[in-house]
Amino acid sequence: MRAHHRLVSIALAVVASLAVPLGRPLGAQQAMAPSRPSRPVAIRAAHLVDPASGRRVDHVVVVVQGDSVVRVDTTGRMPNGADVIDLGDATLLPGLIDVHTHLSSESGNYYDDLFRRSPIDDAVRAHVFARRTLEAGFTTVRDVGGSAYIDVALRNAINRGEFPGPRMRVATLALSATGGHGDLNGFSPLLRFEGESGVADGVDELRKRVRENIKRGADQIKILAGAGVLSEEESVGAPQYSQEEMNAVVEEAAMWGRKVAAHAHGAEAIRRAALAGVASVEHGGLVDDEGIRIMREKGTFLVPDILTDVYLLEHAHELSWPEKIIEKERQLRGFQDANWSRAYRAGVKFAFGTDAGVYPHGLNARQFALLVKHLSLTPMQAIQMATVNAAELLGWSGKVGVVAPGSYADLIAVRGDPLSDVSELERVTFVMKGGVVVKR
Ligand SMILES: [Zn+2]
Repeated sequence: MRAHHRLVSIALAVVASLAVPLGRPLGAQQAMAPSRPSRPVAIRAAHLVDPASGRRVDHVVVVVQGDSVVRVDTTGRMPNGADVIDLGDATLLPGLIDVHTHLSSESGNYYDDLFRRSPIDDAVRAHVFARRTLEAGFTTVRDVGGSAYIDVALRNAINRGEFPGPRMRVATLALSATGGHGDLNGFSPLLRFEGESGVADGVDELRKRVRENIKRGADQIKILAGAGVLSEEESVGAPQYSQEEMNAVVEEAAMWGRKVAAHAHGAEAIRRAALAGVASVEHGGLVDDEGIRIMREKGTFLVPDILTDVYLLEHAHELSWPEKIIEKERQLRGFQDANWSRAYRAGVKFAFGTDAGVYPHGLNARQFALLVKHLSLTPMQAIQMATVNAAELLGWSGKVGVVAPGSYADLIAVRGDPLSDVSELERVTFVMKGGVVVKR
């Protein structure tokens, strides 16, 4: 999360009513209940992009029963008694995964967001963002921070089938040092926002915050390991937690079976996060050779959210971002492409995450073309980031990010060939989640 305009978490009486039944639904078990056919469904298309093998398969029939894929056939044989969805010369792909979203908010005017909106405003519109994301072809997201546990309520409502949205794994409140990226900086010292926030300092407070987040429904923990762009503290590269604090967070989260995602732009914050054993470094634009070496050794994922950086520079003035923030983004952008490319070539694992919510939800797929253009990836490599790689980061390999027997029937289709023009993924014509058609 780089936009912490809402991290100040204005306090609300409604927090209690938002924090609905917990437990730990994976989101994967219960897709939207209504209108899933009881008979098998055969989806026929000219092509299927298979990110697991890195190949394209032709003349494909995907057989779906209930919420899962039971067979992928290339003989052209249709199963008896199945309902048929014929997509003609379209290309099928597994439903896409964005591992860095903020579905419970969307940036507008900087000062309006801070002073004229509350988590109530966010809560009433979050379902719109969820639907938009799903209809854009993203059937799974890892949501990495939001206020007032809106993300928990959103995930649970989607799982109950109350409205359409992607499978969600949520982080609740992002952990931030006092004065750090998730704290309110640059305003009068007399200004106070009340309510629960993720601000925590020292090992004991951090362990307590991790436990509290999990108690409220967090599927993973998000820590702001270093400074950010969309906040007014000084250097974007500065670390904001000690090694000891980072280690404690990862150890505490692991004790509860949770992985940690670390926001870090700067080299030192990246090194500390990777050494502590986080599952992923978010942003990572100033990574150095030492950081690359540690991440490769530890199997740490890097999540380069280039779409947000490009969007911010294009729209910063119309959104009234302070000049200090725009200047930080400009500096950062000068280093990102070279550093990300070096990390990719060195063998660091990459997953597709966009920081959706900083830019308008539903445009997530615009990042594919940017990855191909600025990081010199092939379309298949960019697609793998949003499918098999992302699934591995989520711990859902074989269930999402693939079309194979036993996977969830999460499928999308596009008209053209995304392997020659990856921007085809911006024009998804068909979406199925868990065996239910949500867009055609
Ligand atoms: Zn973010």
